[in-house]
Amino acid sequence: MRLFDLHCDTAGECFNRRKPLLSNDLHIDLCKGESLDKWSQIFAIWIPDDLRGAEALEYFRKVYENFEKEIKLNSDKIQLYQGVSGFEYDKNSTKCNAVISCEGASPFAFEGGIELAKRYGVKVITLTWNAENELGFGCQSGCDNGLKPLGKRMLRDMAANNIVADVSHLNRKGFYDAIDSEATVIASHSNSASVLLKTRADSEDKFFACRRCLDDEQIRLLAQRGGLIGINFCKSFLGDEGDDGFEAAYRHISHMLELGAENSLAIGSDYDGCEINDELCGVDKIPRFEAFLRSKGFDASLTDKIFYENANNFFKSILQI
Ligand SMILES: [Zn+2]
Repeated sequence: MRLFDLHCDTAGECFNRRKPLLSNDLHIDLCKGESLDKWSQIFAIWIPDDLRGAEALEYFRKVYENFEKEIKLNSDKIQLYQGVSGFEYDKNSTKCNAVISCEGASPFAFEGGIELAKRYGVKVITLTWNAENELGFGCQSGCDNGLKPLGKRMLRDMAANNIVADVSHLNRKGFYDAIDSEATVIASHSNSASVLLKTRADSEDKFFACRRCLDDEQIRLLAQRGGLIGINFCKSFLGDEGDDGFEAAYRHISHMLELGAENSLAIGSDYDGCEINDELCGVDKIPRFEAFLRSKGFDASLTDKIFYENANNFFKSILQI
């Protein structure tokens, strides 16, 4: 089967925990990926909220260089996306097609920063993480303001440079500013808030999880605008303890399908960035999850859209320009 996963934190985990990319005890390694026939993976470089300015850029550079070294070491199994042809490489190749994203825009939050991001080959920038940064306010910042002037300017630069704006982690007002901008917008790893509201028992964590997820109007808007929504496997964004595996992920997917997101749905696993139920915890579990969705009545063309085709078509059309 084919997988195009919009979000994982494996690059940072390999750097911080000194793990090799080839084989490790993380959610993603290149050996586990051999269970897939075709695999494109967006590797996010997550910037902690306490790093800003030059420190954030220095951290990005270190994680990036370590990841680049791992790719060179394993060039028979993985390649860095280098252009449109990257998405159309040898049909028989099972090499992982790696795309770089930056989660939290601080490293590039200055005039001309997007040019630098482009030189690093960054294709997606998640505008904020959970707190406030130079661009705007994350979903846990406690602030309802929209994007800052620099955030709006950066969206224009991203549009001009074919870098996709990712609204996962952003607060509601910032989301609408991004939707109203000329940038191409996705939510790389965000689930349905209304499904969580219906299925999770009340708790502090539930209310944070709902803010971190998308409401129905946001899901409809992303779908209407031709964006992507990646289903996040993080336990607390799927359901309650013990009800946070295949069945819960199926609930979120079904709800988004009801809202008209058939051509926008994708996977945004959040592998190596959170706690995940055993059923889903590892890229080698993906074929079993696909089989589960088939057992629920999804046909093969629908599961292929969700796991691969929607994301592949999106990036092909965006990055081709
Ligand atoms: Zn995240």
